[in-house]
Amino acid sequence: MDTILNQKPYIQPLSPDWYSPHVQNVSMLRLDEVHPVVSGNKWYKLKENIKYAQSNGLDTILTFGGPYSNHLIATAYACKQAGLKSIGIVRGAWVKDNLTPTLQDCTATGMELQFVSKEIYAQKEEDNYLCSLKEDYPNAHIVPEGGANKLGVEGIAALSDYILPEYSHICVSVGTGTTMAGLLSVLSSSAKCYGYAPMKGGAYIADDIIQLSESSIEFNIFDEWHFGGFGKSNDELLQFMNIFYDINDIPLDIVYTSKMMYGIQEQIQQGYFPGSANILCIHTGGLQGNVSVAKKLKY
Ligand SMILES: *Cc1c(COP(=O)(O)O)cnc(C)c1O
Repeated sequence: MDTILNQKPYIQPLSPDWYSPHVQNVSMLRLDEVHPVVSGNKWYKLKENIKYAQSNGLDTILTFGGPYSNHLIATAYACKQAGLKSIGIVRGAWVKDNLTPTLQDCTATGMELQFVSKEIYAQKEEDNYLCSLKEDYPNAHIVPEGGANKLGVEGIAALSDYILPEYSHICVSVGTGTTMAGLLSVLSSSAKCYGYAPMKGGAYIADDIIQLSESSIEFNIFDEWHFGGFGKSNDELLQFMNIFYDINDIPLDIVYTSKMMYGIQEQIQQGYFPGSANILCIHTGGLQGNVSVAKKLKY
């Protein structure tokens, strides 16, 4: 299965121009580079789920997402490569006649899409609804939205080789918190783990992370850099992305990693990190989502 990856992840030091003289070092774990479609953390959250389906004689992965979901397109593509069928339950019956670029790609990759109302979508974690899906699709392994299950956490834990003890702080964007839960499960207890939420009021994610991870290591969630809410952005954020690219030669995505790096930069400049900090930021990918702002980006 690992043959699906184009490239192994690697750690890239950021330019001192970006963080000096406030901290000692900032690096980025480039998960965005592993694959153009099954990018970033999504592959790691999916791989144990795909293995589970295969070893239990199931030929389909059924999962959930919104019209711009990186998780849906990653699932569509990874399933195709693995020889599995994929079904996406999509929030918003209205999108059916007006597919977003993400959903067009899902369909083109062979995913069967089912559009449901907001009310039905809201039942995506309820037993009754999941049982009825299981009856309709007995050969499907059902994966929660965003790959947020224990197998997802386990897949992320496979990144432990990159989470070296020399790092004092590990920083990651949070959506469902599954990636952060996986990182917490392999972290040495001396490192601090910081999560950056791209939505308003994202601090609630902390409870989900505690549920998903079996670790008792403390962590922090910051939700002040949401830029108006999930999927929202402004010119200041776009300009930040272009400057970040000029300095570090790393493209960020508009939904998650740009907001995280903006927050980290502010924290660095405000002296939130000690001068000795050696920070590892996780680039969770998501670059396919930049099509909506492509005209305003240099990359
Ligand atoms: C999905 C996604 C996340 C969120 O990951 P979780 O494991 O759900 O917290 C972060 N960054 C990017 C780029 C993503 O696509």
